[in-house]
Amino acid sequence: MTQRVGVYPGTFDPVTNGHMDIISRARHVVDKLIVAVHSNAGKGPMFSLDERTALLRDEVTNANNGLADWVEVRPFNKLLMKFVEEVNASCILRGLRAVSDFEYEFQMAGMNARLNPEIETVFLMASERQQFISSRFVKEIAKLGGDVSSFVSPRVLAKLGDKVGHPAP
Ligand code: ADP
Repeated sequence: MTQRVGVYPGTFDPVTNGHMDIISRARHVVDKLIVAVHSNAGKGPMFSLDERTALLRDEVTNANNGLADWVEVRPFNKLLMKFVEEVNASCILRGLRAVSDFEYEFQMAGMNARLNPEIETVFLMASERQQFISSRFVKEIAKLGGDVSSFVSPRVLAKLGDKVGHPAP
């Protein structure tokens, strides 16, 4: 039987519990998941591409639900559809939070469908508990010394503390 491979692309600056929830649930949709970390230099990320990739790899390796068996983390710096074709994936996975994500995701899925109609974009709705988590707010709260320990893992929390110069609470 052929393996169904999916690509979950994002900036992951940094990876949050919301991202990890989508990754774990992707098991219901694909046999193998490639988490594709985009350099996204234009977004002025807080963490370098190497740091974001390393943090995600740590999360996958340390997850106690066997993620490492079917999830691979790879950095990329090219057109997403080219990357998806190179790794022979059949779908792109994205997470969808409330209405705010919809317009951007709808446009991106539409453009990607034009680039390659064979590749479907599959959306997983954010879980109720993770719905309000975003990397952007995590960074803003951390910069101001707030407690983000319920949004990210202890490993990410420590790295955030290093970046913003506040110790993890
Ligand atoms: P991008 O810059 O590509 O939007 P992000 O790292 O912000 O990268 O997000 C990657 C994907 O994860 C997007 O599909 C986004 O909607 C989804 N996502 C982010 N946070 C959550 C969350 N809390 N719950 C579910 N999906 C999420």
